[in-house]
Order: sequence, then structure tokens, then C-alpha cells
Amino acid sequence: MTEPALWLVVALGAAMGLAIGSFLNVVVYRLPVGGSLVTPPSACPDCGSAIRAYDNIPVLSWMLLAGRCRDCRQPISVRYPMVEALTGLLFVVVALVFGPPILSAGSVPGTISAILLLVAFLYLAAISVTLALIDLDTRTLPNAIVLPSYVVGAVLLGTALGLRVDVPHLISAAAGAFILFAFYLVLAVVRPDGMGFGDVKLAGVLGLYLGALGWPQLAVGGFAAFLLGGVAGIVLIIARKATRRSGIPFGPWMLAGCWLGILFGGPVWAGYLALIGLG
Ligand SMILES: [Zn+2]
Repeated sequence: MTEPALWLVVALGAAMGLAIGSFLNVVVYRLPVGGSLVTPPSACPDCGSAIRAYDNIPVLSWMLLAGRCRDCRQPISVRYPMVEALTGLLFVVVALVFGPPILSAGSVPGTISAILLLVAFLYLAAISVTLALIDLDTRTLPNAIVLPSYVVGAVLLGTALGLRVDVPHLISAAAGAFILFAFYLVLAVVRPDGMGFGDVKLAGVLGLYLGALGWPQLAVGGFAAFLLGGVAGIVLIIARKATRRSGIPFGPWMLAGCWLGILFGGPVWAGYLALIGLG
């Protein structure tokens, strides 16, 4: 890509991610308590005054208001702008990885396929942020988000791969969903205190996405969750913030591991094969 095109992709990804991140804050706050996602408009949790449109600009408004409500001056959690910034960053990364293939596809089905892949992974980015935060807050991964994601993922990824008649990746996508779902199901049955059925259901979605990219991504993404979760668990135990059995939610590590697999699975797997002399 030319440099102006690159900056355009970054700017579009950031703008979209920041705006969606702002909406995800609402989802994370309201979905677990069963509130409507569209009404009422956002209000200050302390004084209840409605947030003015010009105070609702992602990240920027929080900084201009120095992290305080314009009306009652009570602090507004730094988490809101951080969620917006994280979503913006993830969208930029996805746009940089999945945007350029749209321009270089060279055929109509190829172009549509590349667009569907971009949309599929932007969707995954949005639900990743949402599910990680809800799991940290409530230790649940709501069916309202996880179950529709099977349909969204299967339709977008299935159509994208079908348009290319990419049978190997259709197979690895279906196998990925089945393998990760079955693996987590066994874990949840054997160690019910360590893994919940929310994790099992999410595992199938992540396996579908990782498998759609290929076996290396599936292997690295699936393994990275346990590496990250294990390291974090050890650090927390050493820092005496947790005991071995205090049950840190695993969803955020599954999601972080999945993204490592998506972004670095190919090179990590090639490096691993080279290391053991098979590359
Ligand atoms: Zn207020």
C-alpha cells in the first residue's frame, strides 16, 4: 500500500474503533443487568444528568473534562476512555492486517471475500473487548453475545472462504470450532472449579475464527490462552493477590491468546517448527 492509503486505513480504523468502543462501554455496563442498550441516553452515574453530545467524544471528552462530570464534578472512571482507546487500537490493527488484501484481491469474489474477512475480525475485536470486561466484572460470558457469534462468525467466515473455494480453510475452521469446544468441555467436566460452560461456549467461537486462518493460528491461539492465564495466575499468587483456588476468570486470557494466535500464529508456528528441526 502507498503511504497515504496506509494512513487512511489507520485513521478510518481508529475513528470506527473509538466510536464503537464508546458503545461497548454502554454494553458492558448495561447488558449484565438486563438494561436496554439504546435507551435511556448515557447519564452521569452520580448526579444523573445526561451526557451532552459534545461531552461524548471518545477519549477526548474525558481528557478535556479532566476525568470529571461537567455537572457534579464527580470523577468519571478512567476505564471508559481506556476501553475506547483499546477498541480503537484493535480496530487499527485489524484494519492494517485485513484491509490491504481488499485492494490486492484482483477479482470480484476475491474482493468480497476479503471485505467479509475484515468485517468478521472487526466483529471479533468488538466482542473480545466486551466479553473480557464483562467476565472480569461478573465472571460470566453472556449467551446473548457468545451464541449469536457462532452465527455471525460462521456466515461471514464461511461465505468469505466459500467465495474463494478455499476448502482446506473451511475444514480447519469447522475443525477448530469443534476441537476447542471439545477440549474446554473436557476441562470443564474434569475441573468444574477451574473452567465454566461460558468458557466452553466461547472456545468454539474462537476455534472457528482461528481455524479459518489456519492450523498454525489455531495451535498458537489455543495454547497461548493457557500460557497467558498460567503466567498471570503465578504472578498473582506471588503477589499474594490470589490463591491457587481463587478462580481468576479465564475468558480474558482465552481472548488475549486468540488475538496472539491471529496476529502472530503464522510466524510463531514457523519458528517453532524450525526450532525442533522440522521447518
Ligand atoms: Zn455528575
